[in-house]
Amino acid sequence: MSKAYLGIDVGSISTKGVVLDENNHIKASTYLWTEGDPLYAVKRLLSALKAQLDSSQDKIVAVGTTGSARKLIGAMTGAAVIKNEITAHAIGAMSVHPDVRTIIEIGGQDSKIILIENGIVIDYAMNTLCAAGTGAFLSSQAQRLHINIEDFGEIALHSTKPTPIAARCTVFAESDLVHKAQIGHKKEDIVAGLCKAVVTNYLNNVGKGKKIISPVIFQGGVSKNVGVIKAFEEILGMPVTVDTNSHLTGALGVAILAKKSKVENDFCFDMTDIEFKTMGYECKKCSNNCEIICIYRENEIIDAWGNKCENGAIRKSYKN
Ligand code: SF4
Repeated sequence: MSKAYLGIDVGSISTKGVVLDENNHIKASTYLWTEGDPLYAVKRLLSALKAQLDSSQDKIVAVGTTGSARKLIGAMTGAAVIKNEITAHAIGAMSVHPDVRTIIEIGGQDSKIILIENGIVIDYAMNTLCAAGTGAFLSSQAQRLHINIEDFGEIALHSTKPTPIAARCTVFAESDLVHKAQIGHKKEDIVAGLCKAVVTNYLNNVGKGKKIISPVIFQGGVSKNVGVIKAFEEILGMPVTVDTNSHLTGALGVAILAKKSKVENDFCFDMTDIEFKTMGYECKKCSNNCEIICIYRENEIIDAWGNKCENGAIRKSYKN
């Protein structure tokens, strides 16, 4: 049997998994939608990964988890390592590009910037509050324009004159988009304008005050959009690298950390159900009114998601 290491990145929109061999080569990988149920998403992920492996040859000896439901999934898989997204993405990116200086990460519902010097994270920022710089914004605009999100980037590349779109927030962007379509702007110009709007919003919010130094690596689900890559390169005036596995970097990073931990334990693909209780409620601390879901084991909280900031009204005990 050869040893293998599993990394799981459970986000609010997508769930990613990577299995590495002893030499950090990817033996299996999967990307699927979380669909609001991280437990079920991970069960589907595990069966997809299992199907790609040879059960007589490959033995998972350590698991790492990251992403918004990392503690819950870490508890359920007996993870050796549970790490935040910044660390996981930085380790994953540096494993492929040891000289990386700037990591741009744009996912379904949040975005990050990570600045690296000599292999160490020196600064970072995350944006979870404004949707205008995320994949969710592009998906909703694609729907509005009756375009398949997979075709969005290619359509943008046909534009010679991107339409300027107000990028301050989703509400402004949406009403501006409707106005520009009504006055006859071409679809490809509007799509290219939206790609630029995402980049402008990202740089003005999550990238505010950050010095972006080359080499720049772009990762997360939105890095698959060639229109957004082009907009980043034009606005930054420097090349932006996107890897084939740019959507899996968090899972890759945490699999590497699980391997480095040297903590090994028995892992079973048929995830055992641990006893837990869930409680959902609305946080009323600000006008976002986030829907928070908390998971408890023996009345103590083990994980929570849905809160868009650290000030969310998380209930530490199921009894209260
Ligand atoms: S978690 Fe609470 S305080 Fe934080 S953004 Fe959501 S509603 Fe506001």
